[in-house]
Amino acid sequence: MPIYSANQKNIAEQIATDTVDSANWRDWRWQLKHSIQKISTVETLLGIRFGEKERKKLELTLRKFPLSITPYYLSLIAAENYQNDPVFKQAFPSPRELEIESCDMADPLAEDKDSPVPGITHRYPDRVLLQISNVCSMYCRHCTRKRKVGDKDSIPGSEDIRQGLDYIRRTPEIRDVLLSGGDPLMLSDKYLDWILTELRQIEHVQVIRIGTRMPVVLPYRITPELVAMLKKHHPVWINTHFNHPREITTSSKQALRLLADAGIPLGNQTVLLAGVNDCPRIMKALVHKLVDNRVRPYYLYQCDLSEGLSHFRTPVGKGVEIMESLIGHTSGFAVPTYVIDAPGGGGKIPLNPNYLISLSTNKVVLRNYEGVITTYKEPDSYEPMFCDRKCDSCGLHLPTEDAEEYRATGIERLLSDFDETISLTPENNERMERRDDA
Ligand SMILES: *Cc1c(COP(=O)(O)O)cnc(C)c1O
Repeated sequence: MPIYSANQKNIAEQIATDTVDSANWRDWRWQLKHSIQKISTVETLLGIRFGEKERKKLELTLRKFPLSITPYYLSLIAAENYQNDPVFKQAFPSPRELEIESCDMADPLAEDKDSPVPGITHRYPDRVLLQISNVCSMYCRHCTRKRKVGDKDSIPGSEDIRQGLDYIRRTPEIRDVLLSGGDPLMLSDKYLDWILTELRQIEHVQVIRIGTRMPVVLPYRITPELVAMLKKHHPVWINTHFNHPREITTSSKQALRLLADAGIPLGNQTVLLAGVNDCPRIMKALVHKLVDNRVRPYYLYQCDLSEGLSHFRTPVGKGVEIMESLIGHTSGFAVPTYVIDAPGGGGKIPLNPNYLISLSTNKVVLRNYEGVITTYKEPDSYEPMFCDRKCDSCGLHLPTEDAEEYRATGIERLLSDFDETISLTPENNERMERRDDA
C-alpha cells in the first residue's frame, strides 16, 4: 500500500519539514506531533479562507473549547464542499458551540457525582468506567466530556490510576472494567500493558473493555506491537466510534483488521448528529460498512445535554425513524441499540419503535417492520413457577455454585415472586408526604 493518497501527500508535504519527515505519515507519534490546532493552519491546508468576522467568532470559540485535528483525519475532508463535510463538522469548531441553552449542563451524566474515587464512575451494579487518559488525538466537537477537553489539571496521573485500581480490587461485584478517557490509546503500549496487567491480576475482573476513537481519527496507532500486547490480556473488547461511512477508509480498515485478527471483539458507538448522520440511508450505509469490517454496531446515542452541543441535537423521533428503517430491513447484528444516556446519571435507556399493538389474556397483537399485523397465541397451559429464590430445590438446572444470589432491583423486583414490593415511588412524592402527615 502506498504511504498515502494524493490528498494526504499534499498535506504531509505542507506540514513536514522535509521529504524525509513527510514520509513518516503513518507514524502515529508523527501525526500527534503535527496535530493541527490553529484556524490559520486549517485554512492553509484546505486552501480555504474565513472572513474577519467569522474568524473572530471562531477564535472566541477556541478559547472555550480548543481545536485539535490529526493530519490524517483532516485529509478526509473534501475541501471543495467543506461546509457540509461530515468530517469537518465533527472536527472544526462552530461559533454555535457558545450558545448555551437552559437545558444544557456541564456534566449531564453526573459522572462526577457517581465517582467514589478519582477516575472511576460506578453507575451499574457489576461494571465501572475507569478514565485513564484525559487527552485525545482529535477533539470531537460533539464530545460529551467537553468540560474536560484540554484541561491540563484533570489529566489522571499514575497515582489516580492506582486509586482506581485499588477501588476495583476491593469491590468484588465488579466483573467488567471499561477503560475510557480521553482516549486510552493515547498512553504508551508499556503504560497500558501495566494497567492491563494490574487489572488481570484481580480475580473478579472478567472482561476488560477499551473505548477508543483511534481507528477513526488516527488508525496508525493500531500497530502490530500494540495488538500483540493487548492479546496477552484477553478477553479484551474494543468499542470504537465511527459516525459516518466516509470515515471507513483503507487505513481504518487495516486497523480494524489487525484488531479483529487478534481475536478482539469489535463494537461501534455512533452519536446521532444533526447535519452529519441524521439520515436513514447514511446510517444504513454506515452499519453495513461496519459489519463488512467485522465491527458490530453496538449503540446509537441520542446526543447528550452537554454545553455547546445544541446545534448537533436532533429530536428523539429522528432516532426512532432510523431504527424503524434498520430493524427487519437488515441483518439483526447490523442494528445498534438506540439509547438516551439519562440526564442526572440514570444510565442508558433503550428506545425502540413500538411493535406490541395490543394483548388479551391469551393473545398478543404485534406488527412487523413491513406494517403487517399479526397475532401470537399464548399457551393455555403454562404453569407459572413460583420463584422464592431457593434455587437448590428448583427443577431448573442452575449451577448454583456459579449463580450470584443478589437482591432484585428496580422493575425486576416488581416482577418477582419473592419480594412483596408492589410499587416504586419517587422521593418527594407529594401524595405520599400527605399520607405520612396524616
Ligand atoms: C455506558 C456505561 C457503561 C457500560 O454500559 P454497557 O451498557 O454495559 O455498555 C458503564 N458505566 C458507565 C458510567 C457508562 O456510561
